[in-house]
Amino acid sequence: MTNFSEMPDKNGYFGEYGGQILPPELVTIMNEINDAYDKVIQMESFQKELQQLYADYVGRPSPLYFAKRLSNEIGGAKIFFKREDLNHTGAHKINHCLGEALLAKYMGKTKVLAETGAGQHGVALATACALVDIECEIHMGEIDIEKEHPNVTKMKILGCNLIPVSRGTRTLKDAVDSAFEEYLKDPVNYFYAIGSVVGPHPFPKMVRDFQSIVGKEAKEQILAKENRLPDVLVACVGGGSNAMGLFTAFLDDESVKMIGVEPAGKGLETAEHAATLTLGTKGGLHGFKCYILQDQQGQPLPVYSIASGLDYPGVGPQHCYLKDIKRVVYETIDDKECLDAFMLTSRLEGIIPALESSHAIAYAMKLAKNMSKEKIILVNLSGRGDKDADFVANYLSLNI
Ligand SMILES: *Cc1c(COP(=O)(O)O)cnc(C)c1O
Repeated sequence: MTNFSEMPDKNGYFGEYGGQILPPELVTIMNEINDAYDKVIQMESFQKELQQLYADYVGRPSPLYFAKRLSNEIGGAKIFFKREDLNHTGAHKINHCLGEALLAKYMGKTKVLAETGAGQHGVALATACALVDIECEIHMGEIDIEKEHPNVTKMKILGCNLIPVSRGTRTLKDAVDSAFEEYLKDPVNYFYAIGSVVGPHPFPKMVRDFQSIVGKEAKEQILAKENRLPDVLVACVGGGSNAMGLFTAFLDDESVKMIGVEPAGKGLETAEHAATLTLGTKGGLHGFKCYILQDQQGQPLPVYSIASGLDYPGVGPQHCYLKDIKRVVYETIDDKECLDAFMLTSRLEGIIPALESSHAIAYAMKLAKNMSKEKIILVNLSGRGDKDADFVANYLSLNI
């Protein structure tokens, strides 16, 4: 059996994926971050501070909620939501942002830098940096700035320096490039806080570890409520952090199936999707090896999803590995299915889910239909949809 707890290896590889595809100066710096991380997670003071913040600041443990009306409507398996939408700042991202901001502070860094797509990582990081008292600079594509205006306002109020990115498709990928250029100006004193389980080693490992609290809690909670493990876990996959957060605690439980859901956007047959694991090929991107949606020259293709947080042309290296060994199955949901799930969850449960999370719910709904009533599907409800409400109302021309 695969020993998941020993992954990645010391060079940051999950099988053939991950690593550090970087110039030697940056490899040295990444290795310093790795050493500092390995040291602080063993420190009682660091752990105590982080656990205390999870409890009193984020509001952990987040509830595990039986979506009874939604389950009844579909008429199959029971669907449970892990309520990461109830976290302070409204999504799972605060779990790793607090960890990263604390680590940067412990390392004596002077500025934390990042990109953001939907603005969720930006808000979570600006929040963590305000709390931890460290300077914060966020790069964001102009298209996303327009689409996610409330998050932009929040970041400014929280005191971060917001840099609009006008190059390329003016979305997440370009924001990554822009933030990385700034980082290269002084990597000794700056800390690049990567927003998912992507980027060079040790980020896929660190972000996964900080997120793994989600699955640990969910496992205890489902055992307490149902006295057994779930049959299936479902989570949406952009970079893959909320999915790794849920999956990690269950990797050794062979009876538990796991499904990562990618955005099929306007259809897999069109160019407008971001189904990296489904249609991508192996390559290098942003300092690591993974599946990528790329052209003949190895340049990342423009990607699209109705959920800004999912439109990334690469994906976390551990997901690539889990796909190859078939421990996790990756499926897709298109914009229409996502919107249907968004509306149905809102109307039946009084929960407005993020468009990202709605991909996972939509797949769980499809799956539940063909499963018997005593089966359990556990969905990571990665974030709340307040940020998407106006956009969806306009898009569906709702007369609100
Ligand atoms: C950013 C985001 C995602 C996608 O990121 P992952 O790293 O794939 O988890 C999913 N859901 C929400 C609510 C987000 O904000």
